[in-house]
Amino acid sequence: MEKENLQPKLVFDCFAEVNKVPRPSKHEDAMAEFLVRFGNALGLPTKTDRVGNVAISKPATPGLEHLPGVILQSHMDMVCEKNADVEFDFMKDPIRTYIDGDWLKAQGTTLGADDGIGVAMQMAILKSTDIAHGPIQCVFTRDEETGLSGAEGMGSDFMEGQYLINLDSEDEGEIFVSCAGGATTVAEFPFTRAAVPAGYYTARVTVRGLTGGHSGDDINKNRANANKLLVRFLVEEMGKTALRLIDIQSGGLHNAIPREGSAVIAVPASFRDQLSADLNLLLADARKEFAVTEPDLAMELSTEPAATEGQEPDETRRMLLALLAVHNGVYAMSQSIEGFVATSSNLASIRLQPDTGTVRVVTSQRSSLLSDRMNISAVVRAAFTLGGALKVETGEGYPGWETNPDSILVRKAVESYERLFGHKPVVRGIHAGLECGLFSVKYPHLDMVSFGPTLRGVHSPDERLLIPTVQMVWDHLLDLLKSI
Ligand SMILES: [Zn+2]
Repeated sequence: MEKENLQPKLVFDCFAEVNKVPRPSKHEDAMAEFLVRFGNALGLPTKTDRVGNVAISKPATPGLEHLPGVILQSHMDMVCEKNADVEFDFMKDPIRTYIDGDWLKAQGTTLGADDGIGVAMQMAILKSTDIAHGPIQCVFTRDEETGLSGAEGMGSDFMEGQYLINLDSEDEGEIFVSCAGGATTVAEFPFTRAAVPAGYYTARVTVRGLTGGHSGDDINKNRANANKLLVRFLVEEMGKTALRLIDIQSGGLHNAIPREGSAVIAVPASFRDQLSADLNLLLADARKEFAVTEPDLAMELSTEPAATEGQEPDETRRMLLALLAVHNGVYAMSQSIEGFVATSSNLASIRLQPDTGTVRVVTSQRSSLLSDRMNISAVVRAAFTLGGALKVETGEGYPGWETNPDSILVRKAVESYERLFGHKPVVRGIHAGLECGLFSVKYPHLDMVSFGPTLRGVHSPDERLLIPTVQMVWDHLLDLLKSI
């Protein structure tokens, strides 16, 4: 198959145009200008707002003026990740796509189908002369991937319509009707320096090789959390010997399940062999516990230069117990959608800060219900408060999108799908943020759904688009526009 022959041709041609325009998150100026030029060239009403979102309106095709207004929405930015051995400048180079069987991929970089394929579908509808639809507004938001600041900064009068179809989902055959809201809870623990007695052995304990993943989407996949494994070992050893904590640097982004971490500790020199034996025992146990999900799990000990100062031991004891106790992973399953995670928390990072001299712990909580999210954040704060944290704070967070059982759009989308493909789509929620959460606050009366073609490996150079699902989603979208 040649790239030029991919179907639906209009959509893939638009996607090729989109992929010529650089659009890293927070650097969407060129993309916004491209879309404004596109709308103006078609002679369609085109506007931008103060945060740089773009909207292009298109009147109904003749005879369908009576239909309610539909907003089609995607985000214009993309995650820019590349393989280390690839020369590529996301600020100016076009994405180099190629076909591999049924998949469209990019050479060593993210593909930008998240959410460029949604953008392309909107452009195809705006450009088309033979697609039947009522009044349409195509909305392109900025900076979905690194803070949702486009949707966040949008005024409550920018979008016009009764229904909104978000084109930023990644599983054909699934219709999303709710998303989780979330917040970050940060604690700072004291790290008062005290002398390490003479005759101690100093070592670094490292956990690495874990699978990691997204702290929302992947939280129910039984993956190990590097911070939890590290703390588990330190607490075990603290129960046996006079352990001193010298440094801890574990975990990374707040929205990622931590894959690696390390701590520097000191123990009486006579305990050295025991320390190493204990680590091997825990490693053997952990490999059994995570036999399926963590094939490359590793825990290692290495000798460090003798430390003279470490955290005051009682502070260490209380902090480590709090980190062991604090909830991590799924907290509650949904009572309305079978098998769907309702509420979770992720222990994302534990880091001694050289500037403040405190240990900063970052966690993130998600839930499809605001009250549940506030409760899990309180649970996390409680553990940290008991552990002697100097400061524990939950940020304002972002809102979720709650299932609307009376949604006409969801019913129409399901009926249309069944009519076209002969079976029911899966109707479900997503345990991660979508821009729909913010829209549900600013536009409380908007009836929304989210769907899109199948993508895999998103946010990584392995990102790929399942080509046949683009035609399916396109047919579904056009049918829904007619029948709404
Ligand atoms: Zn996206």
